Amino acid sequence: MADSRTLKAIVVGGGISGLSAAWFLQERGIAYTLLEQSSRWGGKIRTEVVECEGIGRFVVEAGPDSFIAQKPWATQLARALGLGDELIGTNDDQRKIFVLNRGRLTPLPDGLLLIVPTRFMPFALSPLISIPGKLRMAVEPFLPPRHDDGDESLAAFVQRRLGAEILDKLAEPLMSGIYNTDPHDQSLLATFPRFRKLELEYGSLTRGMLASRRAAVNHKLDGAKPSSMFLSFKGGMEALVTRLVSALNGDLRLDTGVQTIERTDRYCVTLTDGTSLEADLIVLTPPAPIAADLIRPLAPDAAALVDAIRYVTTGTLSLAYRASDARLPRSFGVVIPRSENRPINAVTMSSIKFNHRAPDDYVLMRAFFGGSRSPQTVELDDATLVSVVRGELERIYGIRAEPLFTRTYRWRQATPQYAVGHLDRVDQIERALPPGLFLIGSAFRGVGVPDCVHQAQEIVTKALQG
Ligand SMILES: Cc1cc2nc3c(=O)[nH]c(=O)nc-3n(C[C@H](O)[C@H](O)[C@H](O)COP(=O)(O)OP(=O)(O)OC[C@H]3O[C@@H](n4cnc5c(N)ncnc54)[C@H](O)[C@@H]3O)c2cc1C
Repeated sequence: MADSRTLKAIVVGGGISGLSAAWFLQERGIAYTLLEQSSRWGGKIRTEVVECEGIGRFVVEAGPDSFIAQKPWATQLARALGLGDELIGTNDDQRKIFVLNRGRLTPLPDGLLLIVPTRFMPFALSPLISIPGKLRMAVEPFLPPRHDDGDESLAAFVQRRLGAEILDKLAEPLMSGIYNTDPHDQSLLATFPRFRKLELEYGSLTRGMLASRRAAVNHKLDGAKPSSMFLSFKGGMEALVTRLVSALNGDLRLDTGVQTIERTDRYCVTLTDGTSLEADLIVLTPPAPIAADLIRPLAPDAAALVDAIRYVTTGTLSLAYRASDARLPRSFGVVIPRSENRPINAVTMSSIKFNHRAPDDYVLMRAFFGGSRSPQTVELDDATLVSVVRGELERIYGIRAEPLFTRTYRWRQATPQYAVGHLDRVDQIERALPPGLFLIGSAFRGVGVPDCVHQAQEIVTKALQG
């Protein structure tokens, strides 16, 4: 076990991965410098508060709007920072999600657990899936399971177990949508490993999901409080960043990028301001192509593997309306299958999903575009983009009114793609790194905010084990 009092660490990148790494280093008594090349902390976590005179404030998310509660690490961090009272769950009484089906809003049938129906009647009566599609799905419990532990694409898995229509109408928009990925290239084991586990354990995904549901119901009967699947903060996701930054007492530097890393008996890092720093531990959190360039002189094999992680460009457009101008069904939004061929991928009703997002009598919504489904939309200029999205909102929801305001955010080459074999590639990368050098962040072991916090926690423990 290394002596934390004599170690010095440099953390590169001030997004949630880098900030969390700094926090866990601080907790273990390791001195650190946190370097962020831009002029703000938070990376992809960014909340913009828009004050409208005479109306009130809107809380607009540029990046993540929430995090999954089932992965406990972000919630634990928030509580450790004293943000427990700021946590909010989704408004689950309005948790309806629509799928655009031949241009029409079609609700997901009640009782659907991600893509598996757990209640017969709502699914049997739903117009979303055709009768042949439902019959194909019904044979799933009788299909032989795959027994090996090799990876496969999400598309291959869903087609194998549930059929092509479930892939098109449910899995592609709901499961690949989260990752902005083409399901034919998306690693099952890196993104939905539970599905393979259920197949192995129960011989069938449907039987496995039904058993999970029964377990969840029994848990609730045992007195456990039903809780929201997704959490955020009253003031928006950036509350976590602001609180973390104020709790960090190490050497924190904005507008300071890392240019090169060398290694003799310690690591030596040169900075964009022309100075250099030495350390025993380096934690790198920038996107994979930048991390690959930084580690190439030290670990060329790892750099080649990191460089092969592909990214896509995505964007969001938030729009605010007077509620009376946008008569919306009470729902969290709509997902749009690739086969619908639309210029946007989904719409979230931000102010229905969470409280504290818009003043009473106003609504805030957010359209998603880009990724592998609508890459052309990201390239539109702002005015054309707004007009294209408004056209979609009119077609889907009948909204014709002028929005009160709009906010556009483009995330260029910012969303990593977990290709089939991703987890093996990450294992190989980690084995090829020199001691004391760590790579974490959304490109590696999970794209969500809790995954980033968890990776930070894990590498600090690993670093101390030497
Ligand atoms: C539109 C959108 C919606 C999302 N929605 C969700 C969601 O709802 N829930 C969820 O859990 N996740 C969501 N995510 C994913 C999540 O936001 C990210 O995976 C996570 O924030 C990544 O954090 P990070 O610290 O690893 O990387 P980043 O936030 O990208 O931070 C990396 C930092 O490194 C800095 N940097 C780069 N190069 C250098 C250098 N040479 N020297 C110093 N600094 C450098 C960058 O400036 C940046 O600040 C979403 C992402 C996007 C884009």
